[in-house]
Amino acid sequence: MNCCDDCSKSRVSPMRPSRRSMIIGLTSAAVLSASHATAATGASADDERFMRLALDEARQGDYPFGAVIVRDGEVIARGRNLGKTDGDPTAHGEMVAIRRCLADHGSAALHGSTLYTSGEPCAMCMGAIIWCRVGRLVFAASVEQLATKIDQIIIPSAEVAAKATFSPITISSGVLADEAMQLFANKVFPKR
Ligand SMILES: [Zn+2]
Repeated sequence: MNCCDDCSKSRVSPMRPSRRSMIIGLTSAAVLSASHATAATGASADDERFMRLALDEARQGDYPFGAVIVRDGEVIARGRNLGKTDGDPTAHGEMVAIRRCLADHGSAALHGSTLYTSGEPCAMCMGAIIWCRVGRLVFAASVEQLATKIDQIIIPSAEVAAKATFSPITISSGVLADEAMQLFANKVFPKR
């Protein structure tokens, strides 16, 4: 086995060496190697449209994070960070959107859906995204970018996905990342 085989197997599902897995692998490499990357990978015009809705949510959050969940071209749930409002440190934008989606539509609606989020999901949110069988993740700012402004668990979402091969997920990064980072302008959060 040569080096390339070895490397690709460490990043992608051994069950499905498909294009989807390749995108995960490539995105992982991009996120890991380019902390200042702002160019979107694998994004469409619709992605920007839905990401703007996630950014609208983020603007209203306790911290500037927001998410929307899309199924068959329609937004079926929205969420924004409610950590302070709810006194709940787990009330991240993605978690709020997922919980609302579950309450309104049931878990089946999440299967194969697309989740847009203004900031790359933390390990907690990424775990929830995988357990809920979301089919595609699109995020704006990366954890490495966000970590320059606010506390972050520095684990790229692609790393979590690569270790959860039971639920393949496509990841697109950097969609409107600059606009997501602008939400932190003139805001200073205590970093421990
Ligand atoms: Zn999170």
